[in-house]
Amino acid sequence: MKPKKKKLSLAMQIFIALVLAIIVGLLMQSQAKFANTYIKPFGTIFLNLVKFIVVPIVLFSIMCGIISMRDIKKVGSIGLKTVVYYMCTTAFAITIGLLGGNFFKRLFPIITTSNLSYKVGEKMSIMDTIVNIFPSNFVSPMVDSNMLQVIVMAVILGFAIILIGEEKNHRLVTAFNDLNEVFMKCMEMILKLSPIGVFCLLCPVIAENGTMIIGSLAMVLLAAYICYIIHAVVVYSIAVKTMGGLSPAKFFEGMLPAIMFAFSSASSVGTLPINLECVEALGADKDVASFVLPLGATINMDGTAIYQGVCAIFIASCYGINLTMSQMLTIILTATLASIGTAGVPGAGMVMLAMVLTSVGLPVDGIALVAGVDRIFDMGRTTVNITGDASCSIIVSNLERKREANKKNK
Ligand code: ASP
Repeated sequence: MKPKKKKLSLAMQIFIALVLAIIVGLLMQSQAKFANTYIKPFGTIFLNLVKFIVVPIVLFSIMCGIISMRDIKKVGSIGLKTVVYYMCTTAFAITIGLLGGNFFKRLFPIITTSNLSYKVGEKMSIMDTIVNIFPSNFVSPMVDSNMLQVIVMAVILGFAIILIGEEKNHRLVTAFNDLNEVFMKCMEMILKLSPIGVFCLLCPVIAENGTMIIGSLAMVLLAAYICYIIHAVVVYSIAVKTMGGLSPAKFFEGMLPAIMFAFSSASSVGTLPINLECVEALGADKDVASFVLPLGATINMDGTAIYQGVCAIFIASCYGINLTMSQMLTIILTATLASIGTAGVPGAGMVMLAMVLTSVGLPVDGIALVAGVDRIFDMGRTTVNITGDASCSIIVSNLERKREANKKNK
């Protein structure tokens, strides 16, 4: 019998694709147009497939997660812990962003700000954002991939199934669990393509921005990346170690496939399926993870908050404005709220930057200063975003296990 060839793990394949994309991208800098026309579309096909599967995955995994808890109180306890953790880490993130921005301010380039223009889309107030969470139509949340509304649908349906009672609901529960499995299988099939997807998404970005990175915005990018790393290494390590009972080294090692995927795709929602696999392998409970992660991919954006802090300081310094303490506090508040309204897709954080700048009276046109290299900011902020979601699912799983054990001992 022939010895079976050892297959490379998916994580390894993604890593190789990532390195190849950087090398080929750098070599293709003079042919950026070719890379954009002929390589990028395959990355887009892959992202489309991921987006196609994300709505049913979020809907059914949150629903099945809730149903499997069998108890509305338990869902409430997990929900509360999750939201508190998300809010606190985001506030930390934006503080780190502002501190980092101030620290590096002297090194930032002063770019002349005449004839800048950035078109702001429809302005959304905080109240509008809250109202928009609730769907007014059963189908449109799924058609528009409005993930916050999909989450609300999943919660309402999940609660209703629990309230119907076990005797009557068992057929529904079996059917939804079976459907969940079908979509998970689809996702597994799509994820097998991720090395190709990663290569085709990243290579054109490097080909187009390679030299730009070394250009004038290098210091701002560097400041953002240093803050991303500090937040991930300090905040998540401490949180995972103290509340999650997991060694930070194991956590980051287990998260590598999701981290690499997020870095190349710049989409938290797209990274959801692979993130679910990683946290389950790290010991998170399936029902907790299937509730916490989809929620996090939609409302928890620590990397985006850091980016907004650094960019607010940079844009202010280009306009010769020194932000006061109270303006910084306003930024902490608005960036935390803006991160809830930021969709987990490429480029969304830059749109929300407008809301943060407006809140402290900075000119929105300043976004044009950073728009050219937004993708590079985005790759790092998405990586932090999904790592934060994963740390939460490890922590909430551990806290829930402890709560259950305490209950039994009483
Ligand atoms: N691309 C980010 C994400 O998917 C959102 C952002 O643009 O900040 O998490």
